[in-house]
Amino acid sequence: MMIDCTERELFIFKKISRSAKEMGVSCYVIGGFVRDKLIGRNTKDADVVCVGDGIALAHKVAEHFQPKPVVSYFKNFGTAQIKIDGMEMEFVGARKESYRYHSRKPDVVPGTLEDDQLRRDFTINAMAISLNEKDYGHLIDPFNGMEDLEKKIIRSPLDPLQTFNDDPLRMMRAIRFASQLGFSIEEKTFQGIKEDAERIQIISQERITEELNKIVLSQKPSVGLDLLYQSGLLHIIFPKMVDLAGAEYIDGMGHKDNFYHTLQVLDNISKKTDDLWLRWAAILHDIAKPVTKKFEKDHGWTFHGHEVVGAKMVPKIFSSFKLPMNEKMRFVQKMVALHLRPISLTKENITDSAIRRLLFDAGEDIDSLMLLCEADITSKNKQKVKRYLDNFEMVRRRLAEVEEKDRIRNWQPPITGEMIMEIFGLAPGRMVGDLKNAIREAILDGEIENSYDAAFEFMINKAKEWNVKPVN
Ligand code: ATP
Repeated sequence: MMIDCTERELFIFKKISRSAKEMGVSCYVIGGFVRDKLIGRNTKDADVVCVGDGIALAHKVAEHFQPKPVVSYFKNFGTAQIKIDGMEMEFVGARKESYRYHSRKPDVVPGTLEDDQLRRDFTINAMAISLNEKDYGHLIDPFNGMEDLEKKIIRSPLDPLQTFNDDPLRMMRAIRFASQLGFSIEEKTFQGIKEDAERIQIISQERITEELNKIVLSQKPSVGLDLLYQSGLLHIIFPKMVDLAGAEYIDGMGHKDNFYHTLQVLDNISKKTDDLWLRWAAILHDIAKPVTKKFEKDHGWTFHGHEVVGAKMVPKIFSSFKLPMNEKMRFVQKMVALHLRPISLTKENITDSAIRRLLFDAGEDIDSLMLLCEADITSKNKQKVKRYLDNFEMVRRRLAEVEEKDRIRNWQPPITGEMIMEIFGLAPGRMVGDLKNAIREAILDGEIENSYDAAFEFMINKAKEWNVKPVN
C-alpha cells in the first residue's frame, strides 16, 4: 500500500478487492481518504470508485461481512454506503461529467477512472489507490497531486475557469482546504476564483454556510476568511463583514481596521475553543461598528452602542446564513451584547453589585464571555496586552469571589411572578413585571439581602408606593 492504513482498513480493502474481482470490475479508493492518509490527517470515511456498477459492488462487499452490514443506496445518484466498524465506505461508479452554464447539476454518464479523476476539484483530491490484483496498493496520480501535497498547494487539474464555472462551490472548497490544511492556493487557481466569484450565487445557502463553518472551525480561520475577502467571495456571501474593512481618517486621526481586528480576535479565540458559536461570536462582536461609527471633534472616532446594535443584527445574519435560530443564536447575541461589560469592570473600586450584575446577565456563559474579552485584545504593544490580561485576571478573581458568596450564576429571585399575582390578586401584566424587576434590581444592587423575607418586605413597600395593595 502506498498509504499508511490500519489493519482494519487493510482488511476491509482486501474484501472490497475480492468482491470487485468476483464481479470482474476494477475499483479504487479515491479522493479525501487518500489525501488525508498521505498527510497523516484523521479519516474515517473512504470513497471507492468502481469502473462499473457501484451499488452492485457495495452489495457484493456487504455479503463478505458477518453480520452483513446495511447497504443504503441512492439509485438516482448511483451511490451506496456501508458502515463497517464506524468507518463509512461510499461506493460509486466511475463517471464522466459535463455541465451546463445555469446549473450546477451535471449531466452524468458512466466513464473510466481517468474520466472520474478529471471531474475532481483539485489535484490533491484526485488521487486514487488501486484495489485491483494486478497493481494493488499503487497510487494513480494523473495531475501530480503528490507534488502539490508536498508543496502545500491547492490547484485545479483543468483550466480553473472551467472548474469553477462547472461547479462554483469549488471556490469555497478551495479556500476551505487552504484554511483547514494551511495550504496556499496556486496563483492561476486563485485568479479563477476572483474572476468567477459572482457565480457563487447559484449555490444554495446551506452549502455555502457548510463550507463557511468548516473555515470558521479550522485551526487558523483568518486564513480562509482573508482569502474569501481577497477573492471577492466575501463581498457576495457576507457583505456586512466586508463593511468592517478599512480605516477612515479625519484630521489625521484614524481608527483601526475592524476587519483585520475581527480576524485576529477570531484566531485568538480559536486557540482556546473549538466551539463554533463562540467563534461566530468573535466574528460578530464588532459587526455594528460601521453603522455606529462617528467622528466627534473632542474624542475622535467612536462606536457608541455598537454592542447593542450588533446584538440586534445577529438574528437577521443568522437567518440569512440559515444558521439555527435557537439557543445558539441567542448565545451569540448575548456574547455580542455583553462583550464590553468585563472591560468596564477593570476600573478601580468596582463594587460587588457591578460584579453580581454581570454574573446575573451572563449566567452560565460567563466563562465564554471572558474568553471573548481576552481574545478581543489585539494590541501590538506587549506591555499593554499584559496589563489588559492582568486586569481581566483580576475581574475573573472577583467574579469567582462574588459567585462563591452569592451564587448568582443560576440564580432566580426569591419571589416569582406567580407569587406576586397571588399576593396582590393581579392578572398577568405590566405591574407584575415591574415588581419582579424592582426586587431583582434591589438584590443585585445589594440594597437588600438575597432572602425571601427581605424581598417580601421590599415588595410590599414598593407596591405601596405604586398604590397596589395585597389581597389580604
Ligand atoms: P471532507 O471530508 O473534509 O469534506 P473531502 O475531500 O473528503 O473532504 P467530500 O465532500 O467528502 O470532501 O468529497 C470527497 C471527494 O469528492 C473529494 O476529495 C473530491 O475528490 C470529490 N469532490 C467533492 N466535492 C466536489 C466538487 N464540488 N467538485 C469536484 N469534486 C468534488
